Amino acid sequence: MARELGSYERKRDFEKTPEPSGRSRRVRGGEQLPRFVIHQHSARRLHWDLRLEHDGALRSWALPKGMPEEPGENRFAAHTEDHPIEYLDFHGEIPTGNYGAGTMTIWDHGTYEPLKWEPRKVEVLLHGERLQARYALFAIDKEDPPKDWMIHRMDPPAEPDREPMPHRIVPMLARTGTLPAEDAGWAF
Ligand code: MN
Repeated sequence: MARELGSYERKRDFEKTPEPSGRSRRVRGGEQLPRFVIHQHSARRLHWDLRLEHDGALRSWALPKGMPEEPGENRFAAHTEDHPIEYLDFHGEIPTGNYGAGTMTIWDHGTYEPLKWEPRKVEVLLHGERLQARYALFAIDKEDPPKDWMIHRMDPPAEPDREPMPHRIVPMLARTGTLPAEDAGWAF
């Protein structure tokens, strides 16, 4: 799939968010491995965003429970809009009132080997600072392109000093307001 940033751009006002507009397009040499980043995103609901460099953009999935730590465990991954390549380096505060408002930090980053890249199945070997492992993403709905995916770890944990993702941290104090009724209403 070619780079498609229209959805990313429509959701954001670049006068109000520090996120990159993606207007400049940096191209790297063909010999290098593509890059990835996993953001920890303390938005209205804490989640992680896995972003894989592919076809000039970052294919992105929001992971409500983070990356699976053990083989055999499938975790939900909501496919989200492509992000610009510049988002690999982005971290910071997205001000209240903007799409995805909250704190975005880089949880892991590095390069990856694309083992399989199909419309409904993606397998990657991540070479990150925290994660050195193979993961499979597979679509579970019938949409085209699919929206609901699962992510699965293909090999056992080998990182000697790995830290499990925090499952119970409370990123922010509760704020008043009404909650969207369904997953589609959340701003990932
Ligand atoms: Mn997010």
